[in-house]
Amino acid sequence: MTYGLVPCPDCQGVDVVRYGKQRHGPQRYRCNNTDCPRHIFLLAYRNHGRLPAVKQQMVDLALNGSGLRATARVLRVSPTTVISTLKKKIRAYSK
Ligand SMILES: [Zn+2]
Repeated sequence: MTYGLVPCPDCQGVDVVRYGKQRHGPQRYRCNNTDCPRHIFLLAYRNHGRLPAVKQQMVDLALNGSGLRATARVLRVSPTTVISTLKKKIRAYSK
């Protein structure tokens, strides 16, 4: 059991609690760090566009001048995922 020992993928904090389940079964976790931009996360994402590492790549590619569609093709996610991720990142940085 990994209870209590799951680090948050955003802040690496260990103040994480189990927080219910997704409709199709996987355990969800919640980060209790109030400064953390993320609250709910999963350990094993089915949708890899939700992975912090992939999101970071979207930001890096955008900063390097890649277009939305090029980014989506390279990372094999949908253009919509790229748009919504970048919008959320912009909001997080401009706070
Ligand atoms: Zn966190």
